Amino acid sequence: MTWQPVDCHAHSTLSDGALTVAQIVQRGTHLGVRPSVSDHISRDVAVGPRDPDAVARYLDELEQHPVLRGGEFCWHDSLWRELPKELIRRFTHRIGSLHAVILPDGRVVHSFSRRFPDGLSAESYMDILIDNLERFAREMPVDVLAHPTLLPLSLRDRPTDELWTDAHEERAATALGTAGIALEVSARYRPHERLIRRAAEAGVRISLGSDGHSAEQVADVSWPLALTRSIGIRDVDLYDPCAHGSRTGHFDSVQPRRS
Ligand SMILES: [Zn+2]
Ligand SMILES: [Zn+2]
Repeated sequence: MTWQPVDCHAHSTLSDGALTVAQIVQRGTHLGVRPSVSDHISRDVAVGPRDPDAVARYLDELEQHPVLRGGEFCWHDSLWRELPKELIRRFTHRIGSLHAVILPDGRVVHSFSRRFPDGLSAESYMDILIDNLERFAREMPVDVLAHPTLLPLSLRDRPTDELWTDAHEERAATALGTAGIALEVSARYRPHERLIRRAAEAGVRISLGSDGHSAEQVADVSWPLALTRSIGIRDVDLYDPCAHGSRTGHFDSVQPRRS
């Protein structure tokens, strides 16, 4: 069987995407990419499953289709902490996202809000982001950290390779490596190459994600794949839940296809 990339991160009409699950499967077939559906599962997102019963119905629907069954969970929201083990096992993989960070005083800074705390410098924000990332890696049993270089709207004009210092990148790589969480190369929030190179050198597995919400985006992992190839990451080492397993326990009773 020839290798095909896996898009570990895409959204359907079950949360805020434009395509049905069946249409996502079709896009994957068309592009030669193995598709996932990883809809938002968070009480801090207006659409998508918001309680364990709704998560069960979401998985019931995905199980009707030849698609990897993921979910994108907000680190700062508590829903992921409330799901029973039997439900978690039905996911082929889970994605965690720092859509917001928690400040030392308990306030929350949302990446999609225009509000940014007065007096908080970009440099201090970055230190707090990495503190959150380290806590996330210790506490959240997911397989992938999505779009690591997502920034609050007020900082989006700043190049990420300037905001991320060597020390930030080393701390992130150590935290993810220790936890066994893969780092996503997002087609949507494109990371700078140095971060991916450093993480891969530290032994962190790398994952491809379209983070697609539309027909043009879903399953298109050409930019992330070009980046990983350009820095010498082998295709077969890119995160594939079927080959590398999952912290959900989904594959624990079945033999991995490849190692
Ligand atoms: Zn996200
Ligand atoms: Zn997403």
